[in-house]
Amino acid sequence: MKKEYFVSAAAVLSAFSLLLSGCSGASHNAVVTDGFPLTQQTVGNKSPESESSESAESSASSEDVTTPESTDVSEPADVTSTEEPVTVPSTDAPEEVWTETPMESTVMYVNTNGVYSRKKAIMGSEKVTLYALNDAVTVVAYTDTDYFKLDDGNFIHKDYLSGEETVTTTTEPLPEGITQVNGVTYVNGIMIANKTYSLPADFAPGVQPDALAAFYKMQYEAAAEGINLYIISGFRSYELQTNLYNNYCAQDGKAAADRYSARPGHSEHQTGYAFDLNSLEQSFENTAEGKWLAANCQRYGFIIRYPKGKEEVTGYMYEPWHVRYLGEELAQTVCDSGLTLEEYLGITSVYAD
Ligand SMILES: [Zn+2]
Repeated sequence: MKKEYFVSAAAVLSAFSLLLSGCSGASHNAVVTDGFPLTQQTVGNKSPESESSESAESSASSEDVTTPESTDVSEPADVTSTEEPVTVPSTDAPEEVWTETPMESTVMYVNTNGVYSRKKAIMGSEKVTLYALNDAVTVVAYTDTDYFKLDDGNFIHKDYLSGEETVTTTTEPLPEGITQVNGVTYVNGIMIANKTYSLPADFAPGVQPDALAAFYKMQYEAAAEGINLYIISGFRSYELQTNLYNNYCAQDGKAAADRYSARPGHSEHQTGYAFDLNSLEQSFENTAEGKWLAANCQRYGFIIRYPKGKEEVTGYMYEPWHVRYLGEELAQTVCDSGLTLEEYLGITSVYAD
C-alpha cells in the first residue's frame, strides 16, 4: 500500500522537470501558477497511520455505503477474553497481520462525519459501516496498527475516535448543512476549502487514498486510449502554500495572485482531494489530454473544479488542469448539473477582507 505512493512521487519528479521546460519564458497570463509543483509535498508522503480516506468527503458518495457485511464478520475465537495479545492473520492476504490487545469495553465517539468501520485493522481495508459525528461505538481491543476493535468485530482508526463527544466550535450560527469540526468545514458532508472557508494550519492529511486510487484508475484507463495523465501537484501543506502565495504576491502583486493562488489555509490542495494534472498552462484545455480529462474525469469521481467563465463564483480563474475528487456518484451529479461546486452546494468563495 505504502509503496504505490512513493512510486507516484517519482512520477511527480519526472513531471516536474517537464513542467519546468514548459513554463520558462511564458507570460504571466499564459502561466497560471495555482499548482506550482513541489516535490515531496505534492503526492505521496502519506503514512499508513494517517488513514484519512474515511473523512467526511466519502460520505457524499452513496456507493460507498456498505453496511450488509457488518454482521457476517467471522471472529477469531475468544479474542476479547484473552489476556495475551493475539496475532490475527488475514485469511485472504497473509501479509496483513496485526496484534490485538484486549481492553475493557469502552464507549467512544466518532469525531468527524463520514467515518467507516473497516473489516480489518489495516489501511484501505473493506468499508463496513458509515458513522457520523458523535456516533457512539463500543471498543473492545486496540491493535498495533493503531485501530480500535469494535464490539461488532470491525475496526476504526484511532484518529477518528475520541473519549468524549466532540465539541464543535463555531463563533456564529452556520447555515444549514454546514458543519465545522476541529476547524474543518463540511458542506453536506463534503470537505470544503475555498476563499470563504479555510483549513487550520495544522490540518495536513496528505493525499487522500481514495482520491489517489481513483486517479490511478483514471490514468490507467486513459492510457489505454493513448492519453497520458500524470500528477504534478497533489497534497500541499499550509506551510508550502504560504511560501507559494507569498512568492506570487511578490511577483505579480496581491490582487493578481489572488486570482490564481490560494492564500494559506484556503487551498483545496490542503484537503488532499485535489490534483493538478499535466500542465499549468491554459492551453492544456486544447490538448488531447485536456479534452479527455474534461469529458471523462467525472466517471472516475473528479470534477474540473474551476471551470471557464466561473471566476466570480469559484474565486479562481479557469484551471483546466485542476481536478477535485468527490467520489463517482457525486462527481457525475455535479457534472450533469452544469454547476460549479459552490453553486451546487449553495456556498460562496470570497475572502472576508
Ligand atoms: Zn490546483
